[in-house]
Amino acid sequence: MGKPTGFLEINREELVDELPLDRVQHWNEFHKPMAKKAIQCQAARCMDCGVPFCHTGANLPSGASGCPVYNLIPDWNDMLYKGQWQKAFKLLMKTNNFPEFTGRVCPAPCEGACVLGIHEPPVTIKNHEYFIIEHAFEQGWITPNAPNTRTGKKVAIIGSGPAGLAAADELNQMGHSVTVYERADRAGGLLMYGIPNMKLDKQKIVDRRLQLLQDEGIEIKTSTEIGKDVSIAELQKTYDAIVIAIGSTTPRDLPVEGRGLEGVHFAMDYLTQTTKSLLNFNHDDNNYINAKGKNVVVIGGGDTGTDCVATALRQGCKSVKQLEIMPMPPETRADNNPWPEYPKIYKLDYGQQEAKAKQGVDPRAYEVMTKRFLGQDELEGVVATQIEWIKHEGRFVPQEVPGTEQIIEAELVFLAMGFTGPEQAVLKQASINLSEQGNIEANYGDFTTNVPGIFAAGDCRRGQSLVVWAINEGRAVAQKCNSYLI
Ligand SMILES: Cc1cc2nc3c(=O)[nH]c(=O)nc-3n(C[C@H](O)[C@H](O)[C@H](O)COP(=O)(O)OP(=O)(O)OC[C@H]3O[C@@H](n4cnc5c(N)ncnc54)[C@H](O)[C@@H]3O)c2cc1C
Ligand code: SF4
Repeated sequence: MGKPTGFLEINREELVDELPLDRVQHWNEFHKPMAKKAIQCQAARCMDCGVPFCHTGANLPSGASGCPVYNLIPDWNDMLYKGQWQKAFKLLMKTNNFPEFTGRVCPAPCEGACVLGIHEPPVTIKNHEYFIIEHAFEQGWITPNAPNTRTGKKVAIIGSGPAGLAAADELNQMGHSVTVYERADRAGGLLMYGIPNMKLDKQKIVDRRLQLLQDEGIEIKTSTEIGKDVSIAELQKTYDAIVIAIGSTTPRDLPVEGRGLEGVHFAMDYLTQTTKSLLNFNHDDNNYINAKGKNVVVIGGGDTGTDCVATALRQGCKSVKQLEIMPMPPETRADNNPWPEYPKIYKLDYGQQEAKAKQGVDPRAYEVMTKRFLGQDELEGVVATQIEWIKHEGRFVPQEVPGTEQIIEAELVFLAMGFTGPEQAVLKQASINLSEQGNIEANYGDFTTNVPGIFAAGDCRRGQSLVVWAINEGRAVAQKCNSYLI
């Protein structure tokens, strides 16, 4: 490794972000670039630990640990330290089709499994990934690389999220002719309509990759819903294999009194409309749910909820609160969450940092359950109560704390409580078997459904997950699909 004593001499240095109160004034990405020298210096902290865990993508009983695409992290850290940027870039591209996405939005399970992280702040792995790929684009090292020969086999991919695009990239490079079908008007899945622009720039970053994939020979057909505009049977006639990568897009609802009131929306409707209007009209059309001057309550404390908080703040909401039914995580790892597991600890994500800067406090309230929505036709408030988790017949269940019911003033509510699985219509049409959880039944590593020639990958198979897992599944399903085709 580069510098054997680097981890003793150099402290972890994070990216400097634009200040929360400044960045809520716009919709652009807000990370400030770090100097190349500073990245090299941070790479020197990688400590030659002997048995690195950062790249393992291991499935531990408590969840995944380490990088799910098995990025060769210690090797590229060494190259960065030595200034071998092009070598580091080539190595990174061997394991990750889209490091510019993960370098921005991945929660970095690699850092949770970094050996240095046992006693000291871990190596800034995610930032290194981000800088390697952005440096490569800047230097012009990334140009379209179409395969020299074609196999004559045709593959249809349904869904253009990270799973579908990673599968498309791999299968195209293997020489198959790939067409990606996407029902939305733009490709990218949740990279385009889901994760907001300030976290991942659509025109500069997502479109840049989409253009590259198309220049390499992949056909992307947007505004085409399989099962409606084109049937599965038609695809089966035209293509030698099909990969379903339709995501997990059925939102979990909250069927309490007042759910039908004007002002209660699913988070994805809010986020999609906002991004679409930003990209098409720079928000001049007013054709989106607007939180300006309103009290907003976001129900759900995950990534989607955080994105709603950040979006509402940029629209100029009067106030924003985020209700989470689970307990507040601890400040440091709990005994049942040891290294190298992903650390489930209290953090202020970007949206909460921004809300805290505006409102003085973290917008999240923990162990809060929504009982009903108030209002005549339009929403006026949320009735919520404090709960505690008690053990009942071997599992934890929520129990209301008497006397804690409160009314929270709200003209807008966003439901961000996760997703229950893929939409069923297209799967029924194809007679695809589903698992007990409602996802597509296809084993990890095999990815074949009950219908010969039809494969499944990404959130529609594993349930709502992460961009990096979608890339992992896209890469792996391509291998299986290729074995079927040749
Ligand atoms: C708001 C939000 C924020 C998130 N933030 C993060 C984050 O910061 N970091 C992270 O790692 N993960 C994040 N995630 C999770 C991550 O985005 C997903 O795990 C990932 O995008 C899944 O990829 P996928 O390709 O399986 O599906 P998706 O990205 O959901 O793509 C599926 C695509 O299939 C299309 N489709 C569906 N049915 C059809 C059909 N019948 N015909 C044609 N097309 C169809 C859909 O329109 C969609 O474009 C977030 C999720 C949400 C909802
Ligand atoms: S993809 Fe995610 S887990 Fe893997 S190196 Fe990048 S940030 Fe870490």
